[in-house]
Amino acid sequence: MRLKSGSGTPSATESGVKNKQWQGATARALQGVYAGAHPPSLFISKVRELYCELRLDGPPFDPWEVARRLHIEVSEETMAIDGYVERRADETFAIHLRHGVSLARKRFTLCHEIAHTFFFDILEDRRRYRQAGQDDPEEESLCDIAAAEMLMPYGSFSHDLAAAKLGEGLTPSDVLRLMRRYQVSLAAVAARITWISRDTTCVLWEKRGPAINLIWASPSTDRSLVLCQTGRTSVEDAAETPGRDLTSRDSFYQIGDTTRLIRRHASSRRLASGQILSVLSPAKTARDRTTSIHRPAEQHEKPSNQIARSVQTHFAFCQ
Ligand SMILES: [Zn+2]
Repeated sequence: MRLKSGSGTPSATESGVKNKQWQGATARALQGVYAGAHPPSLFISKVRELYCELRLDGPPFDPWEVARRLHIEVSEETMAIDGYVERRADETFAIHLRHGVSLARKRFTLCHEIAHTFFFDILEDRRRYRQAGQDDPEEESLCDIAAAEMLMPYGSFSHDLAAAKLGEGLTPSDVLRLMRRYQVSLAAVAARITWISRDTTCVLWEKRGPAINLIWASPSTDRSLVLCQTGRTSVEDAAETPGRDLTSRDSFYQIGDTTRLIRRHASSRRLASGQILSVLSPAKTARDRTTSIHRPAEQHEKPSNQIARSVQTHFAFCQ
């Protein structure tokens, strides 16, 4: 049989999963065997047992080595999806990866597909009743969690993260260093950082004309942040000064049912791509306050140039 996988992108599931209730078919199938078990813990424990047994060197940790030691064949081909795993007639697994994508993406996808093999038999019956090609988002989330643990094991990564935070706190340079050390994508390392360090947010911005728009945020619950463009923020300074970490206390609107103004210690850096990476942590003298601005209801959605302009008209809040 073939089991298709999604893109394997970790950011949304990793960051949004902490308070998730696992009540779907996947959780029920797993809990039917492991009574009362927390599904993410089952996947993470499986990775830890495996790494203990395999005694792999790292970082970076080599998923091809993991596959080889598990007797899983890995091949690459041209296809529309990032990867899938199949169980062959002889009961062995084969993982197919998309040719031509970045190494970081391939590494994450391979780990994600290996995770699909962990509880394959338990989950197989449930898969049989799904429509062909239809992924179960809950199983996909669990495989993303396992993939993050395989590439950035908690023990090793949290130690490196704590060391990076010493001194002036975490900067974009630290994030890029961790990304290279663990050979993962920027989105994956940001998701791991904010998963472990709950008061940290990583944001990727793009400057378009006068507007600075959010591309993604980790955790994803912060994706509604809108920068208060005062001309003095670390994000705006970084946009004009590539290749340096610039630090400031920046203000943001958090768009939601109630729009809040928040201030954060922000360290920003313009990347080679021209995008700007910010690491936000609580301001030492945070003066969060709740306020209301009058916006049409349809602007409650994702930030856009329009929202950025709307927010800028409330410039007084940003001082
Ligand atoms: Zn998958």
